Amino acid sequence: MLDIHMKNNNQESVSTQYDLVPIGKALWNAKCVRCRKGNMFRPCMMSQKMYVRCPHCDLFFERHPGYFWVSMFVSYAMGVAEIVALGIATFVLSGGSENVYLYLGIIISAIVLLAPFNFRYSRVLHMYFLDPGLKYQPEFSGKVDKEPAVFINTK
Ligand SMILES: [Zn+2]
Repeated sequence: MLDIHMKNNNQESVSTQYDLVPIGKALWNAKCVRCRKGNMFRPCMMSQKMYVRCPHCDLFFERHPGYFWVSMFVSYAMGVAEIVALGIATFVLSGGSENVYLYLGIIISAIVLLAPFNFRYSRVLHMYFLDPGLKYQPEFSGKVDKEPAVFINTK
């Protein structure tokens, strides 16, 4: 809980309390980077629909045209990390197998299955760690939720 004291025009002290949301919890639940309360995506992992604006603090997610191009490189890095990890895991668990089709089968099916995860979390990681203009502002977490109207169509 963060306690902020401000002076208004009549010089009376105004106390406002905010719930501080830990970054790990907000990141895992794909919450808005600014308020950490509103969802960036629809709850279903397979839907791949991203809100245009944060349903909680009204942050416009696609900050400029082509903004999510950077997320594509984050997704690429995540894919490479997954392929290397799965390759090593397959080697260790299969007792050092040299069957190429075993590796290809496991890695290709894992990449297909992890595609929705990579899509979602590449955007989340991009907005949380690679955009210096965005940061957590707990004063935006206090507003009331409103219904989001529009989704970014990713199909
Ligand atoms: Zn927000």
